[in-house]
Amino acid sequence: MAYTCELGSGQRLYLDNVGEQTAVTLASSSAGQQQQSGSQFATGAWTAPPEMFRTPQGVVIKLTTTQGMHHLQLQGSQLGVMSQSPALGNAQQMQMSSGVAMPGTAMPPMEPMQPMQPMQPMTPMEPMQPMQPMKMGDMEMNANPMQMRMGNMEMQMGSAAASSIASGSSTAGKAKFCSQCGTPVKPSDRFCANCGHQLNG
Ligand SMILES: [Zn+2]
Repeated sequence: MAYTCELGSGQRLYLDNVGEQTAVTLASSSAGQQQQSGSQFATGAWTAPPEMFRTPQGVVIKLTTTQGMHHLQLQGSQLGVMSQSPALGNAQQMQMSSGVAMPGTAMPPMEPMQPMQPMQPMTPMEPMQPMQPMKMGDMEMNANPMQMRMGNMEMQMGSAAASSIASGSSTAGKAKFCSQCGTPVKPSDRFCANCGHQLNG
């Protein structure tokens, strides 16, 4: 049964006791890369769960074994046996979890990064879709027949509009516009209400 402790900044330490050996594996993951380094120390069989402490000098692992107390120190990714027992009075004990699986040393090595795929060639532009009716605020545009309305101004082009112009005032209900200023006028109007232009028809 292994013990593990999160060291922060993507580092995780695993401890396991195999016979008289203490196996320590440091797994670090950063920027999507997993790295593992393992060491074994002849400490004797554990008689108590390992303890870890955070000290200003690094992380200290305290092992209580049949051979007495052992301390391992982890500085960065360097792991070593401490020759003297450190004073851990003020050290912060770190939370460990047990019952985890030791990351196997037989783990397959990470797949090498795949080389970047070359950029896909740009897909050619889709052919233009026929114009959809467009509406923005009080502005409206239609493509077929070409029709545009802005506020109270209206413009029409195409067969429908052409025929309505050709048939002149006989087309009931069709809006008319002053040919001078474009103001809509009633078919019955003789003069433009806006500019006074004389309306023919
Ligand atoms: Zn007018």
